[in-house]
Order: sequence, then structure tokens, then C-alpha cells
Amino acid sequence: MTAVVWFRNDLRSLDHRALSAACAKHQNVRGLYLLSPKQLDEHIIAPIRRHYLRRALDELGRQLGDLGIVLDIIDGGHFADATKHLGNYCRDHQIDTVYAHREWLLDEIHRDAACIEAGVPLTLIDDSLLSPLEIATGDGGPYKVFTPFSRRCRTQLMANFPVCSRRPKAVADKIDNAPCPPFGQERDASAWPANQDDVLEQLRGFCAERAHDYREYRDIPDLDNTSRLSTALSLGLLSPRQCLARLQQECGDAIWDASSGAGTWLNELLWREFYRHVAYHFPRVVRGRAFQAYTEQIPWPNDAALFDAWREGRTGYPIVDAGMRQLRDTGWMHNRLRMITASFLCKDLHIDWRWGERHFMESLIDADFCSNNGGWQWAASTGTDAAPYFRIFNPTTQGKRFDPNGDFIKHYLPELQDLTPKAIHQPKEQGNYPAPVVDHQKVRQITLALFKNVRD
Ligand SMILES: Cc1cc2nc3c(=O)[nH]c(=O)nc-3n(C[C@H](O)[C@H](O)[C@H](O)COP(=O)(O)OP(=O)(O)OC[C@H]3O[C@@H](n4cnc5c(N)ncnc54)[C@H](O)[C@@H]3O)c2cc1C
Repeated sequence: MTAVVWFRNDLRSLDHRALSAACAKHQNVRGLYLLSPKQLDEHIIAPIRRHYLRRALDELGRQLGDLGIVLDIIDGGHFADATKHLGNYCRDHQIDTVYAHREWLLDEIHRDAACIEAGVPLTLIDDSLLSPLEIATGDGGPYKVFTPFSRRCRTQLMANFPVCSRRPKAVADKIDNAPCPPFGQERDASAWPANQDDVLEQLRGFCAERAHDYREYRDIPDLDNTSRLSTALSLGLLSPRQCLARLQQECGDAIWDASSGAGTWLNELLWREFYRHVAYHFPRVVRGRAFQAYTEQIPWPNDAALFDAWREGRTGYPIVDAGMRQLRDTGWMHNRLRMITASFLCKDLHIDWRWGERHFMESLIDADFCSNNGGWQWAASTGTDAAPYFRIFNPTTQGKRFDPNGDFIKHYLPELQDLTPKAIHQPKEQGNYPAPVVDHQKVRQITLALFKNVRD
């Protein structure tokens, strides 16, 4: 009898519980990926992410080939068609078990439940989170605030350190899997490693060389001091367990100290987990709704011309524009800039956070629904644990604080090349560079009123 491992956002062969289980229990194992170009078009995945996904599938094919496992990449049609395609596949290949990792978004949960109901022999395994989805507060409800959630996770992880799965044994002689054909318009993503060994080396390098001063330098966009592993994590080329194991290997017990560099990095991994828990327990956020219900009433003016200025990096606020051009030019943006640009869109331009959320999903190479939604709702003060609505980033002060000499700004705004560190954060209109599209002090007052009016 034959088992199939259904790969979704877990495109790796190491520390993959479903693959390990299949190889341990079955003599014949296949791999399957349902590729849905139609669905990717509907959700508008960034061309750079398409290229990354295709390379990741090629690499997965190579890794599985080394284990003697065929990787079938088949057109999965629309999301709702998975039951039909999987059912046919099981019949054609006489599959007795389908192994896959459990997911947490509503559509994925319904899809898997429908497969099981239709008789697909699907076995779901918990793999992709450090913290079980079921962890609850003392009252038995889900966590809505990050700090107690992270404390609880740390305690659990200390008591029960997660172990990575063993390298799966080959089930047959090496084979060559066919490469994945292009599916839609692509943009070169070769700057991002898609090979699991290169990703593991990237992780090792970060943990050994930069994790210790991560806390100090992580907010400076001009220093490349964050891990840049979000891209690999978003498609599961790397597991959070592998991150934790390597972090501990390089930094020892410092990982449990939230004030150390390594402990701060672990905290970021826990933010990622937290937003997955929120999406699972409060599925309204997956349906485009605000977590804080009262903020649904805010009449966002949504000026399309201002939205275009933000998207194109010509708001006249240099740190905002540099961040948006980093996104446009590279498909990635530093976390501090994601916070600044998101805050600016909602609280200075008064544009609905969902517009920005969508633009990021369509542009980022590391687009991840839960982290993106969580980040946007945090910045817009509409989410769990949100920044209070009256805390409004001043884009000029943020620029002075996190890019004091303007080095990052100059990299993305060459038109400001000749300005001094003092002048660069409040440049006058010059050449192609515009005057500020809004007056921060004035629009700040409007933001306060927008929130206050619906809150009272
Ligand atoms: C408005 C907004 C939108 C965002 N959209 C995404 C997105 O689509 N995809 C995405 O992966 N992250 C998103 N983030 C979170 C964060 O900005 C990125 O994960 C981070 O910049 C990636 O860089 P890194 O890998 O060098 O992170 P590091 O600083 O090295 O952090 C390590 C890992 O922790 C996770 N992480 C770090 N910060 C956060 C955070 N605030 N929330 C959740 N997880 C985090 C990521 O997986 C990251 O790779 C968003 C944040 C904001 C404010």
C-alpha cells in the first residue's frame, strides 16, 4: 500500500513530521502538491513570490528524489476542488493514507474537513507551530494579549523542548523529479535561497553571528541585522523548531531571557505564533473584519490619490517613501518600516488598513496572511494587543530615530543624496521629490477624532 504526503506551506524534507511518519510506516511513499494558478491569480501573489515558490518546489522535488519519492505537482483548480482532486489521486495511485500538517485558517480547516468527510484517508499531524493551538488562559479562553501568551509559551517550551524529526530514510533508489513549470508572470527571486541547506546555513549564520546583538540593532533598517528568514518560513522551507534548536545551540540559555538578543528573537517567532492563534480562535479576522469590533464603524475617507502616493513612495515623508520603495524594488521591507508605513497609511492618510493589507499581500515575497493581518491591525489600532489609537507614529521623528544619518533613505531616494543628516528628514520640495502630502500635526487630530467618535 502507498502513502502520499500532501505538501502545503511546508516545502522541506527535514524536520517534516508528516514525511517522517510516512517514510517510517510505508514502503511506497509519494509526494503531492496541489498548485492552483487560478487561485494564485485570485489572491494576486507577487511575481517575486511566484518565482520563489517555483524554485522551492524544484528544490523539494530534488530532496524527495534523493529519497526515492516521486513529487507530483498537479493542477488543484479552485480551493474547493481539493476534495475531488485528492480523491481521484488516491484512487489512481491506490493510496491508503494521505499525510498532511494541520493548518489554522478557516478555508483550510473547511477544506480538510470536507476531504475527510468525502472519505479521503487524510491524517492530520500537528507540526507547524511551537505552541499548540489549544493553549488557553486561566479562564479557558484563547489569549488576546501577546505578553501573557509569550510567557506561557516560554514556560511550556522550557519544560518540553521540541525535538526536530530525524532525517527520513530513503524508501527507494534516487529518482529525478521533473522541474515545476512556470505558472504566471514571475520576477527574479534568486537573491533568496530556496534550497533547504542554504536556508539552514542562513539560520546558523544569523544565530551564531547576529542574534546576540539583535535587540540592539534590529530596528535600524540600514543595518542588515535581522535574520531575513521570513521568506523561507512563509513557505515552510524552515520550521520554527529548527529555528529554536539552532538558536539554543548557538546562544544557550540566553534564549529564555527576554531581554537578551536571542530571547528577543525568540519573542519575534512567538509573535508569528500569536497571530496564528488569533486567526484560528477569532476567524472574523480571516474574513476581513477588525478584531476590535467598534473600529468597524470608522468612516475611512480612502483618498485614492493619497493611496497611490503611498504605494509609489512619494508622500514627501522620506522614511515612509524609502520603505515603500524598498518594497517596490525588492519585494521585502524591514519590520520597522512596515510599522511606520502601515501607521502612516491609516493614521496620516486615513485609508482603511485593509487597502494596505492587500497591497502588502500582493507585493511581499514573504506574504503571510496571519503575520500581515496581525501587523496591519496592530498598526491601525484595530487588532488584539493593538497600539492604543492615540499612539500615533510621527514619521519625521521615526526617521530621525531609526535612520539618523539618512543612509537608508539615501539608498532608496537618490534624489535626496546631497542632503545633510539634519535636512534629510524634512526636505523641501526639490526636483522630483514632492512636498509632504499631508501635515502630520493636523491629520493627527483628525485621526483622534475618527477613533473617538466611534468609541464614545
Ligand atoms: C504591517 C505589517 C505587515 C507584515 N506582514 C508580514 C508578512 O506578510 N509576512 C511576514 O512573515 N511577516 C510580516 N510582518 C512581520 C515582520 O515585519 C516580518 O516578519 C519581518 O520583518 C521579517 O524579517 P526577518 O525575517 O528579518 O525577521 P526577524 O526580525 O529576523 O524575525 C524572525 C522571524 O520572526 C517572525 N516575525 C518577526 N516579527 C514579526 C511580527 N511583528 N509579526 C509576526 N511575525 C514576526 C518572522 O517569521 C521572522 O522571520 C509584518 C509586520 C507588519 C508591521
